[in-house]
Amino acid sequence: MTTKIKYETVIGLEVHAQVKTKSKIFCNSATEFGQEHNSQVCPVCLGYPGTLPVLNRKVVEYAILAGLALNCEIAKHSKFDRKHYFYPDLPKNIQISQYDMPICKNGHIMINGKKIRINRIHMEEDAGKLVHAGSAGISGASYSLVDYNRTGVPLLEIVSEADISSPEEARFYVEKLRNIVKYLDVCDGNLEEGSLRCDANVSIRPFGQKELGTKVEIKNLNSFKALQRSLEYEVDRQIYEIENGGKIIQETRLWKDDQGITLSMRTKEESHDYRYFPEPDLPILEIDAEWVHKIRETLPELPDEKRLRYIEKTGLSEYDASVIVDSIETAKFFDDALKLTNNAKSAANWLMGDITAYLKENKLNLNDIKLTPESLVEMIDLIDKGTISNAIAKKIIVSLMEKGGSAQKIVEEQGLTVISDEGQILEAVKKVIKENPGEVEKYKSGKTQVIGFFVGQIMKETKGKANPAVINKLFKEEMEK
Ligand SMILES: [Zn+2]
Repeated sequence: MTTKIKYETVIGLEVHAQVKTKSKIFCNSATEFGQEHNSQVCPVCLGYPGTLPVLNRKVVEYAILAGLALNCEIAKHSKFDRKHYFYPDLPKNIQISQYDMPICKNGHIMINGKKIRINRIHMEEDAGKLVHAGSAGISGASYSLVDYNRTGVPLLEIVSEADISSPEEARFYVEKLRNIVKYLDVCDGNLEEGSLRCDANVSIRPFGQKELGTKVEIKNLNSFKALQRSLEYEVDRQIYEIENGGKIIQETRLWKDDQGITLSMRTKEESHDYRYFPEPDLPILEIDAEWVHKIRETLPELPDEKRLRYIEKTGLSEYDASVIVDSIETAKFFDDALKLTNNAKSAANWLMGDITAYLKENKLNLNDIKLTPESLVEMIDLIDKGTISNAIAKKIIVSLMEKGGSAQKIVEEQGLTVISDEGQILEAVKKVIKENPGEVEKYKSGKTQVIGFFVGQIMKETKGKANPAVINKLFKEEMEK
């Protein structure tokens, strides 16, 4: 038994999702990303004396919506608390968060058939951002500037139970969570810009042991790859420590992506270190059943439901349905296409094939290109009617993505219609046969699979416009002569 198999991995995740409201959680300063430093601030979020927080109703609605989508109980009474916290980018020196009465509790999501419980979802305000400048000292900066634009931006903290048992499963969990908040339009789910942030708690214990091992928190995980790699590293590090007589210290460690290691940052605070107490400036939040009911009615179709619908109603395979559902942009595009065609399989194939390949190659998003569901369906119809060949469609699709317009028009303007005229095709068939006597010999000696070669050559000769069925027929006729 290798040492890795001796130990069980236990992971819990805290995900911070930046809520897509226009204004901050306790004031009406704007939340737009990438604006000029300190241009979206006011006395409330700057913590001036004499100011009072006013709760943004929309944040509560989004929290309830997320709670419902993640199968949580919605609290009837919820409360805000002060978390004591010194940070230069948090000018009040407290963070308004929720401690013992969070808005949502006891939820779960399913990951490949396994239930991962969600302990709670709570609302809180974000801190600002330090901008390290100059060039000196260990951090490479000689001074720091503070940008308070993010101070007071609403966050939902989604805390899982320690039900996750591998780094890969942790990645699946965050990917799924991200997809759900994007479907809800609660958060744009951008890990690189920090609108979705993830901290991981990880420990190991020998299989069969009941009590948990000492956990370590990992921070600075700004990609799915970083999340999985850092956990893999940390599990190996902890096993090595224990196997070599060392001890795991409860601490926060920083993931260094370029070096592929975690480094000790500080010993981990316990919740009592934060001296939580009820926020005196905000009343108890009362949430009546009627309100929750109204919000429930606005729940969109979620990824799991969508996947099932694609499989049951449009005949897509489990795999195809999963791929399409994994991106809300693709799913929206596909749904719009479905309104116009019954050929779901073909629409899915184009989306997952040529279109995805083009987007990846050019680092683009579906929203960045000129192709529309209408123009894709028009092109699929032209293939289905036999007006154009698949080879021609592969060229048209690039033009539709780059320049937009109509497939029908491109076909008319460039004369791309399939040639079914036997006379025209026969000429090409004869030419290719004449030029390839060796292959003809092979065919005649029984190696009939070389027909693929001939069809390819004849297609080339006709610039992809010949009807393949006619080529096949004429070629066989010539061979029988
Ligand atoms: Zn403000």
